[in-house]
Amino acid sequence: MTELPGIVITGASGRMGQMLIKTVMASEKCKLVGVVEREGHDWVGRDIGEAMGGTAIGVHVSDDALEAFAKAQAVIDFTAPKATLAFAALAAQARCVHVIGTTGMTDDDLHELSHAAHHATIIRAGNMSLGVNLLTKLTKMVAAALDDDYDIEVIEAHHNRKVDAPSGTALMLGEAAAEGRGVSLNDVRDSGRDGITGARKKGDIGFTAIRGGDIIGEHDVLFAGEGERIILRHVASDRSLFAKGALKAALWGQGKRPGEYDMMDVLGL
Ligand code: NAP
Repeated sequence: MTELPGIVITGASGRMGQMLIKTVMASEKCKLVGVVEREGHDWVGRDIGEAMGGTAIGVHVSDDALEAFAKAQAVIDFTAPKATLAFAALAAQARCVHVIGTTGMTDDDLHELSHAAHHATIIRAGNMSLGVNLLTKLTKMVAAALDDDYDIEVIEAHHNRKVDAPSGTALMLGEAAAEGRGVSLNDVRDSGRDGITGARKKGDIGFTAIRGGDIIGEHDVLFAGEGERIILRHVASDRSLFAKGALKAALWGQGKRPGEYDMMDVLGL
């Protein structure tokens, strides 16, 4: 009988961390072999089942990521950019697949990440859901079909504890729109309008971020022309959607050559 792939979850106490732990525990295709929290966190040393308010499952929260990764075939990581960069180096060392859902990474962070990808299989996406990845594809198609008489705006909404804006998904959609138009997003990105901004520049791709309450994640891509508007929309109503996508990526990554992949690769889109 072949062993099930062992999975480690980082940021164990986080919103996504806890959802990922539940998703891996419920899966018959893999097993939870470790959970990691930062040094000094009061969950370190505790059984993760109990720490999450349930019964003991025999997996204890560790602050030694390398030791945990060494026992695993994949690590699923939804934490913060600095933590993710450190985990990438350790996952490369341990030769396990690194699935990254963390958003808010800068160009410098991504450059550093590409070094780890020489030795590790990295699958990274600002959004792990099938629906958003389909929306990304549709956004590229619509942007390619319309000229810049149609203004493109990406409008996103998230809960009031989210720390980065625009969201990773909004940027993914903006990239897709820019690609469809054959331009670089860096040249046309317009986020954070405030005050006397002047008229909208033709060809720009605008971003608006709404923050409030417990909104899980909503994204609209608006193509506004003279006399008509086209709106592509995705609404996430359950965080487990992202966890299921991340787990699918971790399993897909088994046996893949080192390098950088995204959910389009995983989903074959
Ligand atoms: P959260 O509830 O704040 O959880 C973040 C977790 O990461 C916490 O456990 C936190 O530990 C840990 N962490 C932060 N900095 C760390 C560090 N330097 N070292 C070790 N651990 C660290 O946030 P969330 O809502 O779960 O979201 C986490 C990330 O996933 C965000 O970037 C979010 O945008 C992204 N996300 C992506 C998708 C997707 O599909 N790609 C979907 C949802 C969310 P402490 O509590 O000790 O700080």
